[in-house]
Amino acid sequence: MEEILKDFQEIILPGITHWNHPRFFAYFPANNSGPSILAELLSSGLGVNAMLWQTSPAATELEEAVMDWLRQMIGLPLDFRGAIQDTASTATLCALLCARERMSQFEINGGGFSAWSGSGKGPLRIYTSSQAHSSVEKGLKIAGFGAQNLALVAVDEAYGMDPKDLESRIQADREQGFSPCCVVATVGTTSSTALDPLKPIGEIAQRHGLWMHVDAALAGSAAILPEMRWILEGVEQVDSFVFNPHKWLFTNFDCSAFFCRHPQVVTATFSILPEYLKTDLDRQVTNFRDWGIQLGRRFRALKLWFVLRHYGVEGLQAILREHLALAQEIKRWVEDSPNFELLAPVPLNTICFRFQPGKETGQVLPPEELDALNKALLDEVNRSGRIFMTHTKLGGKFSLRLCIAQTQTRREHVVQAREALQTARVVKEWR
Ligand code: PLP
Repeated sequence: MEEILKDFQEIILPGITHWNHPRFFAYFPANNSGPSILAELLSSGLGVNAMLWQTSPAATELEEAVMDWLRQMIGLPLDFRGAIQDTASTATLCALLCARERMSQFEINGGGFSAWSGSGKGPLRIYTSSQAHSSVEKGLKIAGFGAQNLALVAVDEAYGMDPKDLESRIQADREQGFSPCCVVATVGTTSSTALDPLKPIGEIAQRHGLWMHVDAALAGSAAILPEMRWILEGVEQVDSFVFNPHKWLFTNFDCSAFFCRHPQVVTATFSILPEYLKTDLDRQVTNFRDWGIQLGRRFRALKLWFVLRHYGVEGLQAILREHLALAQEIKRWVEDSPNFELLAPVPLNTICFRFQPGKETGQVLPPEELDALNKALLDEVNRSGRIFMTHTKLGGKFSLRLCIAQTQTRREHVVQAREALQTARVVKEWR
């Protein structure tokens, strides 16, 4: 073991990206905390498989309890029931499968897509915005809809879904013989944390009989703050919902909270009951194997329980509030800066911006030159090892992204990020 640990230090650690470092501002977080790690160790030590109630009653009952706590914390209606999935990608795939099966009245589960098209019905269509996460398209491929049946809805200037465009696409598809099936709205898009307006989208989904799934992978955590609940306005019309405590609720990867208000559709979509899995209690208890793709399931509820009890809702709220305030501070710095400009609104914890020397001088650089300059700036600050950031493209523009969400990130770390950008050679030596 000594030798293995020595090799771990010397061979493995140098190749690790430190996701939980307080100056990790890249992508979206996969943060953790002491209580969560402790529970993860206990769970690994117990080696529990939480596939059936009988395979560890406490694991199932705790999962039901903590998922209901989470439901209340983010203000989901009473009839939502939850199950922990590994990732938001899996949860969205589950939602797409449920949408498919509800629409086909479980015909596709039985007879495949030929049963659907054989009865003269047009291809099922899924709608999401052009800013949605790639897991939606991946889900379409895996669930057999076909990537070409993904209709990308236009976004407004804040990168949120345009409900008018959604409705006209549904209508046009109907006229052409397609079968509109599901809309996936995003609360907190990956690029810029844009917010799709749930209320008008929900009304359209109801009018046209579509399943509505909400991907709030990062942003869902913010809804534990009463002052941020508005981001989920309209959620009472939604069929399913996912957010990731493993992103911004200090519960280490993986832990994704999937909620659905039609448990009977979920279990009818996924349930298969071979003799060897039957128990005497099947009618009385929840068997989470019927809530998703896997049979074997880890005991993830334990780490959520530890985190929720250790911090308490108020403790979690305090950290999130601080992250949100720091994001606003950086936003103001960018707005006031003579040579950085904002590229998207900042409703949450992620700032999209770029170095724009022309802001002060009025000298307009060709777009490719500006992109190359910002790429060079990103490479320089990342190579320095002081901070780690990533980029996106917004409206065709290369954008730096600073996402503030690590458990230990405090003001001093964000100040260091600002200084790393301001003092970079690319910025200082710009003539
Ligand atoms: N949805 C959104 C909006 C995301 O930003 C991400 C990842 O960043 C995902 C889904 C995928 O999350 P997961 O890795 O849990 O599948």
